[in-house]
Amino acid sequence: MDNTTTATPEVQQKTKFCKHCGAKIAEAAVICPQCGCQVEEIKKAEQPSIVINNANTNTNTNTNTINAAALGVRTKNKWVAFFLCLFLGYLGVHKFYEGRVGLGIVYLITFGLFGIGWFIDCLVLLFKPNPYYVR
Ligand SMILES: [Zn+2]
Repeated sequence: MDNTTTATPEVQQKTKFCKHCGAKIAEAAVICPQCGCQVEEIKKAEQPSIVINNANTNTNTNTNTINAAALGVRTKNKWVAFFLCLFLGYLGVHKFYEGRVGLGIVYLITFGLFGIGWFIDCLVLLFKPNPYYVR
């Protein structure tokens, strides 16, 4: 380990001066033995760089939104539509919510297609995914 066979025999080890107290200390010293201050950054063991790859989830949601908008499809909340249908379905409110104004008016006049359309729509909405899409 001792490589002192070089040209300068007097220098036993490389030294430096503490930036806190000015004492002559060993080059390799991290903590000054005189004042106890830290003089060097503590070298950490080199760790493999961790690459966090979370780009996939973001990209997916983005493309879905873009596709839906590009196709002229409206995204609707299932539960909003369901409760509108459940409580106000005989007025066709859930049809207005979906943007189907024509059907909404028909429901409004016929009390939800005499209750049949109202009933069926409640069931249909219940089994739709959330959110669901309306063309
Ligand atoms: Zn010092």
